[in-house]
Amino acid sequence: METILVLIHTDAHGTASTAALESISAAKELVKNLGQGSFQVGLIGENISHAVEQVSSCGAEKIFTVTGPDFGASRYITDCAAITAMVKESKPSLVMAPASSRWNRALPGAAFRCQGKVDTHVTGIACKEGSVSVSRWYYRQRMEAVLERTQRPWFLLIEAGCYQSWTGTPASVVPETVAVSALNIRTQIIGVQSPRQDQQTIRPEAAVLLVAGAGWTKKQADGVSHLKEAESIILGFIGQAGASLGSSKSLVDLSGEGQAVLPFLTHLNQIGQTGSTPRHQKGLATCCHGEEPHSVGWRFISERRAVNLDANCGWARGKADVLYVADAFKVMAKVNELL
Ligand SMILES: Cc1cc2nc3c(=O)[nH]c(=O)nc-3n(C[C@H](O)[C@H](O)[C@H](O)COP(=O)(O)OP(=O)(O)OC[C@H]3O[C@@H](n4cnc5c(N)ncnc54)[C@H](O)[C@@H]3O)c2cc1C
Repeated sequence: METILVLIHTDAHGTASTAALESISAAKELVKNLGQGSFQVGLIGENISHAVEQVSSCGAEKIFTVTGPDFGASRYITDCAAITAMVKESKPSLVMAPASSRWNRALPGAAFRCQGKVDTHVTGIACKEGSVSVSRWYYRQRMEAVLERTQRPWFLLIEAGCYQSWTGTPASVVPETVAVSALNIRTQIIGVQSPRQDQQTIRPEAAVLLVAGAGWTKKQADGVSHLKEAESIILGFIGQAGASLGSSKSLVDLSGEGQAVLPFLTHLNQIGQTGSTPRHQKGLATCCHGEEPHSVGWRFISERRAVNLDANCGWARGKADVLYVADAFKVMAKVNELL
């Protein structure tokens, strides 16, 4: 019989993220499919009272907590110690956790300390006759593998966007505090430097992904390129729609070639075979022709549309649900006006 621990860290506001609540759905679904057992939740953070409220009625058998100033920020040594202490207390056979950057960093080490195994980038969990298997993608999301393991505890880092996030009305619960002993902290966190929220264009939790292609920098019908206009249209849409910004490789590579560029795009925005594979509900590709952004980059986007001047753009035609054969400058300016 499997026993499950869902591991969640809170953010700076003491909240459990959407991805964390998706892990709860994953655990509930697995318990249901196994037809037996239960799950427990472990919360780690400086302040976890809001997160306790968020998960209080999720049906967990127990809620464990590790709290205090040492556990506010992402730090390998403290996160590993907290996870190890929690696993010792809960004794799970499966540890399910959201694949946040913090957990991606700490969980493999914690799994090793617990004599367990870890699998990352998990996109689905299934069970057949009581035996659990997980799926994940390889070769830049072109091949899907289904893995089983006999070793326990088995740690699973679950990709965001694969499960519905769990919600429920708060109930009264009394969490159990887990003590973490003998912390030898050498890394001191003296502050956090990050871009302002409105400068941050990669937003994994946004409903819409706008993919910008190199066409935004190309000469247009009047024989010149319109970079300033492109910048204001793209950023206008991202700001007003609260969308996330993806880019084709050609567009982000332009800076390396010394050509006129859109300065707010970096290789982190790149989607595709050599970029990322985001999981937003909706995607809109603009001025984008490439195979990789369309076939790999937005493989997991549920509703896909594209705007391209070229009616024969095979990838936009083949991979989008709707292709608008139109000038993206005009279409997006109108969309911004409507927004
Ligand atoms: C090994 C390998 C890995 C790669 N990995 C990636 C990857 O991860 N991600 C990636 O993106 N690429 C990747 N590429 C590159 C990829 O093959 C394409 O070259 C690239 O995606 C093309 O970028 P693009 O569509 O932005 O530009 P282009 O091919 O130049 O297309 C521009 C498009 O803009 C349209 N356009 C121009 N003006 C307008 C307008 N006003 N309105 C509407 N449409 C307009 C044009 O019709 C055209 O279709 C990879 C290539 C290789 C070989």
